[in-house]
Order: sequence, then C-alpha cells, then structure tokens
Amino acid sequence: MKDILSLDLDELKREMVLSGERDYRANQIFKWIYAKKVFDFSEMTDLSTGLRHKLGSLFQFTTMKEVERQISVDGTKKFLLKLEDDNLIETVVLSHPRHVTFCISSQVGCALNCSFCATGASGFTRDLSASEIVTQVILMENSIGRPVDNIVFMGMGEPFLNEANVYKAIKILHDPVGRNLGIRHFTISTAGIPEGIKRLADSGMDVRLSVSLHSASDEKRSSLMPVNKNYPLDSLRRALDYYQKKTGNRITFEYALIKGVNDSKEDLTRLVEFLMGMKSFVNIIPVNPVKPIFARPSDQEIASFSESLKKAGFECAIRHEKGTDIDAACGQLRQKRRG
Ligand code: SAH
Repeated sequence: MKDILSLDLDELKREMVLSGERDYRANQIFKWIYAKKVFDFSEMTDLSTGLRHKLGSLFQFTTMKEVERQISVDGTKKFLLKLEDDNLIETVVLSHPRHVTFCISSQVGCALNCSFCATGASGFTRDLSASEIVTQVILMENSIGRPVDNIVFMGMGEPFLNEANVYKAIKILHDPVGRNLGIRHFTISTAGIPEGIKRLADSGMDVRLSVSLHSASDEKRSSLMPVNKNYPLDSLRRALDYYQKKTGNRITFEYALIKGVNDSKEDLTRLVEFLMGMKSFVNIIPVNPVKPIFARPSDQEIASFSESLKKAGFECAIRHEKGTDIDAACGQLRQKRRG
C-alpha cells in the first residue's frame, strides 16, 4: 500500500487515473487531508462509499505517535515523536505573541557531527520520508489547535542531505488546494552543502535560506563542523553568491557564540570579510552548552560582538534561545529518550 502523505497533488492525480477514477478526486482528497485534517477515508463524505473503500485498499496513512510533550517556562513545547519503525525524533513548537514556528526534523539523527551539537553526537540513523516530514506538521497543528505560520528545518538532521523528501514535503504543504502554506514561510537551514544551495537557487522555489556558519576561518570551522573539511568556506561562499545572484534573497547566518572559541576580534574580522558583498542577516546565538567545553561568553561580550558587527555595517540580532530548560533549543535535540 502506498503512503498517501508522500504524494504531491500531481502524483495523487496520476494514482486516481491509474485506478480508473477522475483526476479531480485527488483535489477532494487533498482538501480532506490537508485543509480539514481528516486522516480516515471513511469520513470523506463527498466521495462515494465505493471510492472510500477503494482508497482504503490502495493507500495508508503514516502513523506517528506523540510519546512525550515537554513545555518550557517560556511556552516552547517539545514533542518526542515515535515513527512506525520505533525510531524517535523531536520537533519543537516556538510560540510568539503573533505567530507560531515549528522547528522540524528532516532526518533521524545527523551525520555531520558538529562538535557543539547534541544531535550529531548520537549519529545518523536514516532519512525521514516526505510523509514523515509532512506528518510532523499536521500532528503538531492538531496538537496545538492552530495553524502554523512558519516552518524551519532546524530540528534534527541536515535538510540538504535529504533534499528530495524535504522538497516533496514543502511542495505538499505549500499546495494551494491543501494546506496552502506560503512558500516564503519555509526556511531551510544548512550546515553548508554548496551543491544543495545551488540546487535550491535553480529550483525556483522561493524558500528562505539560513546557513549555520559559526566561524569564518577554515581551520576553526573545520574543527567545529567537520563538513567544512569537504566544503571549505570559499566553496560555500561561491554557492552563496550564486544563490544570491539568482534569487536576490537575503541570507540568514547562524553564529553560535562560544567563549574563547569564535568570539575574538580576529573572529569578527574574519566574519566581516566573509560577509562582505552579500545581503545578509546574522543571528548571534549564545551557544547552548551541551558539552562543558563549550561555554557562553558573558552578556557584555555577546553585546559587544554584536555591536562591532553592526558598526561594520552588518545587520544582526542576538537570539536568546527558547526552551533551554527542556533541552528544546538549538543543538539540544536527540534521538534517544532520556532515562
Ligand atoms: N543541519 C542544519 C539544521 C539543524 S541544526 C544546520 O546545520 O543548519 C539547527 C541549528 O542549531 C544550526 O544552526 C546549528 O548549528 C545550531 N546549533 C547546534 N548546536 C547548537 C548549540 N549547542 N548552541 C547553539 N546552536 C546550536
């Protein structure tokens, strides 16, 4: 049986035609699933009983179970979700006064092993299917009882190493016939995979791009993020120039400030050199100390780094992490249940 949540509208139309039905049935089904959130063919009352039965024999829905929910003092919610094969992923809901953001996962674990990130420490298990990505969104919208405004691929995993499924999920959630979430409400966050960045530029999909930079000197970045050994800063920069030339979009950079590691004047100079000539916005994030060797600079040091960057002519903001008390902040997501 096919997993219906892995099909985009065109694929579902093809499936309908192949099974002897009219293609517009796909639109009706898409509306039931993504606009009305009905996950049961028998409840799709504008379809004939015969068709409802047929659908039940052709397709299944992915099952994903919420096994734990933690709520932070700042209102951030973290969901531990169990997949059909018992793997676990975490997904985070960030609530602001006027909008809600879901921080969703693209893989079970992550292969990139960034030294400051808890997800990498437990290794890579597998890619999530498009349906598992879509289901995270639908499940959490149902859980919180309101539609999401923004989706960021900043949970577990590297989205550009699971590109096909990430794009398929975006296409499904963006489709105006179904969930109809605006394309600019999706952000892909990458550790810096140049081919992925170039393909995003070529795709014509106006998804936002965020790059986890953390250092603009190759030696340091390679020690923090091993992916930099394969894709050093000049290759990253070339891909970003290509992306910006093609899309005109501003690029967001994440810079987790770590005491004594990437917070010196020299680090700032490198950062300014790297950003020169790009339309950028830098999020300065006091690192979440998932390991004792990574400490946060003092508030004053963080403010001074940010001020100097502004003085050099770059837009930036200090992002105080949300949900740290429940390990829901950047780099704190794991695939194992804590005992
Ligand atoms: N692989 C993607 C998306 C997942 S990580 C990427 O690298 O962008 C989401 C964000 O959390 C990234 O910017 C990552 O660098 C950041 N992050 C990881 N560990 C962190 C930590 N301990 N403190 C602050 N940010 C962290």
